[in-house]
Amino acid sequence: MNLTAENHRVPLSDGNSIPLLGLGTYADPQKTPKGSCLESVKIAIDTGYRHIDGAFVYYNEHEVGQAIREKIAEGRIKREDIFYCGKLWNTCHPPELVRPTLEKTLKILQLDYVDLYIIELPMAFKPGDAIYPKDENGKIIYHETDLCATWEAMEACKDAGLAKSIGVSNFNRRQLEMILNKPGLKYKPVSNQVECHPYFTQPKLLEFCRQHDILIVGYSPLGTSRDETWVNVSSPPLLEDPVLNAIGKKYNKTAAQVALRFSIQRGVVVIPKSFNPQRIRENFQIFDFSLTEKEMKEIEALNKNVRYVELLMSAMFGENA
Ligand code: NAP
Repeated sequence: MNLTAENHRVPLSDGNSIPLLGLGTYADPQKTPKGSCLESVKIAIDTGYRHIDGAFVYYNEHEVGQAIREKIAEGRIKREDIFYCGKLWNTCHPPELVRPTLEKTLKILQLDYVDLYIIELPMAFKPGDAIYPKDENGKIIYHETDLCATWEAMEACKDAGLAKSIGVSNFNRRQLEMILNKPGLKYKPVSNQVECHPYFTQPKLLEFCRQHDILIVGYSPLGTSRDETWVNVSSPPLLEDPVLNAIGKKYNKTAAQVALRFSIQRGVVVIPKSFNPQRIRENFQIFDFSLTEKEMKEIEALNKNVRYVELLMSAMFGENA
């Protein structure tokens, strides 16, 4: 596959396509100055990024939408050049809430459709205004919903043209199988967004998804922001890894560029987050070199099978792998 800065789209099983590199946009809203996301998405688009990953719960979707619309108005891009992925939050799983939730997202973005809409997590929370509904003991209040019914409502969003493609996130094999084996399934999930990087390479899930034509979108591809409130920081920083740095030295690239290149060479979509202009550009410079088979194997061997996003996953939801 010839991946270039200008064209690094890969096909999705429903006939659409997705750029292998996207900009992640999650940043702690308490610590991030307003407008940072807007500026970063604009810089990313000017740099050549055509894929933006966002979510209602990142509280900056309005800035993402504004950046896209400004760049369209400037004539730099057309709407169809951009691939935007939005996410259905846990409190919105009941089927009757799915379409109104997506419509709310579209209103925030001020766009007519998203390119990909995904179920953010396979667990449902009690519907309502609280994003993390909790009982008097501070425990999350879960909600019983049928994931298959939620999926049918996602299918209806695709049929209505509100989402060009539909997928999932943080689904394990069993949860994927539940959807794939659903009687009357109309559309398969085109993608599964999960943590994926050299320290957590997800070989089994990757193979399962390959067999079912489900693309893996790797989040935290640089090893996260190491925010102790939701990241397991006892695992060493990915970007300090000696192997990634040594390989980078050979190509005059950084460990971040090597980590991203490794993932896209495995066919894993990457969505590194940066709100720093220099690093936004750095993360895009991954199409002018390639890793040898030996280097790919060396990096694969770094897998520790330990997630950084373990705290969020296991403390709140129970082990999800
Ligand atoms: P990440 O992309 O692995 O890492 C982001 C951190 O790395 C930020 O602190 C960023 O800081 C820094 N950084 C970026 N480029 C760098 C470079 N070239 N060199 C050194 N440091 C660099 O982590 P992430 O934000 O956890 O994951 C990426 C995206 O995936 C998120 O933004 C979000 O869109 C998505 N995500 C989805 C889920 C889900 O459940 N579906 C979960 C987690 C994340 P600066 O901004 O200062 O550059």
